[in-house]
Amino acid sequence: MEIITQSPGETQKLGQKIGSDLKSGKLKKRILCLYGDLGSGKTTFIQGLAKGLGIKKRITSPTFVFVKQYNSYFYHIDLYRIEKFEETKGLGLEEIFSDPQAITAVEWAEKIKEILPKKRINLWFNYLNQNERKVIIR
Ligand code: ADP
Ligand code: MG
Repeated sequence: MEIITQSPGETQKLGQKIGSDLKSGKLKKRILCLYGDLGSGKTTFIQGLAKGLGIKKRITSPTFVFVKQYNSYFYHIDLYRIEKFEETKGLGLEEIFSDPQAITAVEWAEKIKEILPKKRINLWFNYLNQNERKVIIR
């Protein structure tokens, strides 16, 4: 599926829809892997995702925190500052992935391709121009 969003709000709405489908159980894959350059809209999407999951806390891009747990089951992982896969050891990522209750969104997921579960949703974010992003979901 390929979608062009024309504002941050539209990207959030897309995330929100997926979040509510996850919450209702309509969507069963619990690991979302996000790819794309800085500013392509990954965190914006995750803000909507969290809203769709019913989370009220604001999703931010923590500078030096790689894993943030927002409630009993939602994890936001941002690997922007990871340079080598080895640096992710000790973060407990595999434990999170194998938790059947956990819903996890991973920014810069390509950095941990060695341990990404097969059952996952891949989302590629592309910057088109100031206000438009192309999102490919597979
Ligand atoms: P990333 O997490 O991929 O680095 P962010 O979501 O943090 O990206 O930032 C995206 C930036 O682009 C935000 O400043 C947002 O306001 C802006 N933006 C403009 N148009 C869009 C759009 N259609 N979708 C998402 N973000 C957009
Ligand atoms: Mg981000």
